[in-house]
Amino acid sequence: MPLATPHASAISRRVAAISESATMAMDARAKELKARGEKVISFAAGEPDFPSPEVAVEAAIRACREPRAHHYTPAAGLPELRQAIAAKTRRDSRIQVEAENVLVTSGTKQAVAHAFTLLLDPGDEVLIPAPYWVTFPEAVALAGGVPVFVPSTEATGFRLSVDDLERQLTPRTKVLLFVSPSNPTGAVYGRDQMEVIGRWALERGLWVVSDEIYDRFTYDGAAFTSMPNVVPELASRTLCLNGVAKSYSMTGWRVGWMVGPKEAVSAAINLQSHVCGNISNVSQLAALAVLESGLESVEAMRATFAKRRRDILDHLASVPGFECPPPDGAFYVFPSVLGVLGRTIAGRKVATSADLATVLLEEAKLAVMPGEAFGAPGHIRLSYALADSELHEGMDRLRRLLS
Ligand code: GLU
Repeated sequence: MPLATPHASAISRRVAAISESATMAMDARAKELKARGEKVISFAAGEPDFPSPEVAVEAAIRACREPRAHHYTPAAGLPELRQAIAAKTRRDSRIQVEAENVLVTSGTKQAVAHAFTLLLDPGDEVLIPAPYWVTFPEAVALAGGVPVFVPSTEATGFRLSVDDLERQLTPRTKVLLFVSPSNPTGAVYGRDQMEVIGRWALERGLWVVSDEIYDRFTYDGAAFTSMPNVVPELASRTLCLNGVAKSYSMTGWRVGWMVGPKEAVSAAINLQSHVCGNISNVSQLAALAVLESGLESVEAMRATFAKRRRDILDHLASVPGFECPPPDGAFYVFPSVLGVLGRTIAGRKVATSADLATVLLEEAKLAVMPGEAFGAPGHIRLSYALADSELHEGMDRLRRLLS
């Protein structure tokens, strides 16, 4: 029997055009080196170092023993979990939603992918505030859309104005991505600034995808606000994305969600029913348990991060060539390292922030994310969601190498 003619390339253009997640790659590299016994300290991935709350673990153990949890759940998620997510969203985002507005996803990353698949036709443009998290442009491109970056700088605390957005608007713009607190910059928008941007999006007829994953992590009086709370008319055109990964230190359990208008969420449920069916039933029950357990563990973690944020800022103030404005939220600092570029460090020429990240890993066993990954060369991102002892030791190594 003749063999079918092979395609010129095995990989579709869409997938061939994307690259590996730089954050996941660096995290994997740091974990691999540690497993080999290297004393690597990782400031790379945004992953809280706390164990998941005991209530999650207990609920999961119970679920494993319960045959009910061994089977499918509805594609949208367990009804009781959807209710708990709606209640959490009413409490924190302060928008009026019910269980029918909620889709449970495999981590917030899947909610991101679903959101763009749901909203974009080929060629539709998405405004992406830069610096941006690595996955956003790739998720837009995979959905057939076009990422359009809207640059911001330290001068405005990495916050955008309507003029910045207006400059990138075209007749093909369909979605504004809004991220506050921001990964990687930690920028948090105040209500007034948010309202101006929300009104602009409303007038321009845009959809808003609001990444709210860092909602519980704000410092020094800054506060999280959800876009549809500030501009209620936008509620019918906003998808709010969140999950248990960051707030409850449950990155590995893969439970995120999308909250939005019922028609959009219903379409996303259809999509999900073909993509993965449902999220692990055991993980959903663990997520339900933490959402019902209140905010004690979340607040304890936030207080720890608040202290580490102060510590890392103090350390970085004495690293020559680093400039680090204090970020208001998330658990990252995003210093400019322009003052280091052009130097020779440990016998190696450091021309870019990517070179610096390589030298830090190879010479000091420090894993950091180069700004290039976030569309912001000249910076590095350090997560301070790591143990205090590692934070101090890592900062000592950094100072020793660069002084
Ligand atoms: N969101 C985190 C980060 O930026 C986790 C890794 C990832 O999902 O990209 O590091």
